Amino acid sequence: MGLYEAVKDTANLLRKIDDHELHRSVANLQLEAAEATNREATLTQRVAELENLLDVRASLEFRDNMYWMPQKEGSEKGPYCQPCWDSAARLVFLCTGYAYSKYSCLVCKNGF
Ligand SMILES: [Zn+2]
Repeated sequence: MGLYEAVKDTANLLRKIDDHELHRSVANLQLEAAEATNREATLTQRVAELENLLDVRASLEFRDNMYWMPQKEGSEKGPYCQPCWDSAARLVFLCTGYAYSKYSCLVCKNGF
């Protein structure tokens, strides 16, 4: 049973008592429990996003001013843009054939 459900069950039991001050206090407690539950869900999601970001960061290999992601079977994904990853944690595939450089980033417009 979560925090919100526990508070809701307790509030239902306390309704049998005729005390307006108690009912107002329990209603505030229910509201706080709902907000705490929402904050917990938001933080849990953010932790998962950051853990995923750490996993990606740990799997990247920096070579020739670009990032590469080695795969288990020996191949690799990439190349990815170094400025986009380092400045904004955006994993952007580099394209070929858009400029005089071998690789180009269509987001930050850098050539590699
Ligand atoms: Zn870029």
